[in-house]
This record gives sequence, structure tokens and C-alpha cells, in this order.
Amino acid sequence: MAALLARDRARLAGVHRDLVRVVERARLAVPFIVTEGLRSRERQARLVAIGASRTMDSRHVTGHAVDLAYWLDDGDGAVEQGEIRWDWSLYEQLGAAMKAAAKALGVPIVWGGDWTSFRDGPHFELDRRAYP
Ligand SMILES: [Zn+2]
Repeated sequence: MAALLARDRARLAGVHRDLVRVVERARLAVPFIVTEGLRSRERQARLVAIGASRTMDSRHVTGHAVDLAYWLDDGDGAVEQGEIRWDWSLYEQLGAAMKAAAKALGVPIVWGGDWTSFRDGPHFELDRRAYP
């Protein structure tokens, strides 16, 4: 398993350092790409307007959240050669890897896949109780 690629690192710009550490560690266990980190209020407002997000109180706006996508590469590790997969079982693997990394680092996180009203498998955020 590989470390994060340059494109992933660019997408983590502005994301809280502790969450980046969790992402980096989890990437050693499960293959994924970073699809989004810090989000502007303008973009968040657009996402709410089209129904892709439910709240302007998103943790993305403050740099406390990331979205990850399971990445099935063709074996050579080059991010250009492979595909994003949305199979739920793969997000359970991703969620488990992120939780294990968070626990090892002592960084409490919340996985959107555990939400009951709106399950969001790609979404991970720092726990508001520890990171208001
Ligand atoms: Zn998200």
C-alpha cells in the first residue's frame, strides 16, 4: 500500500493537521484517494442548493472534514491507472481503517457511514466534542 499522492496532498491543504495524520496512516492500510477537504462557503452553499449537502454547518467549511474515495488501482500504484469504487463493502473497509488509524493516534473522529439519517460513506470528520 502506498503513501498519499501529490494530488491527495494538494486536496488536504487547509485541513486540520490531526485529521491529515489519520488520513496518512489509514492510507497505508487501504487504497483511497482524497476527493475533497477544505470547502469554501460559496461551494457549500451551492451543494446545499442542489441537495448534495444538507447544512451550511458542514465541517468541510472549517477544515475539519475530508471525503475519501476507495481507489482500485491496476497494481502499479499510479493514480491515473485505476478507478473509484462506490461499493458499500469497500467503504466499510475504509471506515474501519480510518477508525483504527484515529485510535492509534488518539484523534477522535466521526465516520459519516455511521450516521443513521444520511449515511455518507466517503465522509470523515474530527469529533466536535474534542475539536469544536
Ligand atoms: Zn464530506
